Amino acid sequence: MSKLLSLFSMRKNIVVAIDGYSSCGKSTLAKALAKKLNFIYIDSGAMYRAVTLYFLRNNVNMKQAQTVQDALLQIELNFHSRDYESHITLNGEEVSEEIRKMPVSEFVSYVSANKFVRREMVKQQQRMGKSKNIVMDGRDIGTTVFADAQVKFFMTADPKIRAERRFNELQSKGDTTTKLEEVFENLAHRDYADTTRIESPLVRADDAIILDNTELTQEEQLIFALDQVSVHLTH
Ligand code: C5P
Repeated sequence: MSKLLSLFSMRKNIVVAIDGYSSCGKSTLAKALAKKLNFIYIDSGAMYRAVTLYFLRNNVNMKQAQTVQDALLQIELNFHSRDYESHITLNGEEVSEEIRKMPVSEFVSYVSANKFVRREMVKQQQRMGKSKNIVMDGRDIGTTVFADAQVKFFMTADPKIRAERRFNELQSKGDTTTKLEEVFENLAHRDYADTTRIESPLVRADDAIILDNTELTQEEQLIFALDQVSVHLTH
């Protein structure tokens, strides 16, 4: 492992792309992997969520192309990483917690299907990953944002398990009003919207490694992923 790390530290262009369905542990694995590899972690979903929060707060009419484009010009997103927990600011305001709440989760797949939103986010994501070693998670990282990523994972898990994990996470953050069925429906709705939209839908890249973590612990997933990274980057 240490040999591998010193090899990577000499390179500044390695991308590990992690795509997959909603709430299947992409960000948990991405953070752990970035920490082990000493790479930068970028949560692309947080960007779509922050844009959604802005649109909701400002009643942006998504049906008007010009209104959407004008609104995007008013948005500045920044990441601040603390111990691999990525914190995002929207025009200087820390919004990491608010973007995880249900109002944003309910609207985000509608906003992320918009071509102007996607064009802008992809541009910013490509800029962020330039000349760096990164782990980025999302829906279109291995197919669109970094189609030439050296290592790609496609994550999936049983929908019931995913809903339970997300529900427990919400509860641990103090949300005691959202019901398990609501979480399940939200995930099903987002999976459907994300896989059927016209603009870069969620689809497995041909060269992505499938990781079904229904029955895997976080530790087991990390071991598997590290093994794959080392195989792909040393051959
Ligand atoms: O990853 P997360 O669940 O936080 O993403 C929220 C939503 O953002 C997804 O359901 C999807 O609609 C959108 N998204 C996207 N492309 C990405 C990352 C997220 O469309 N690369």
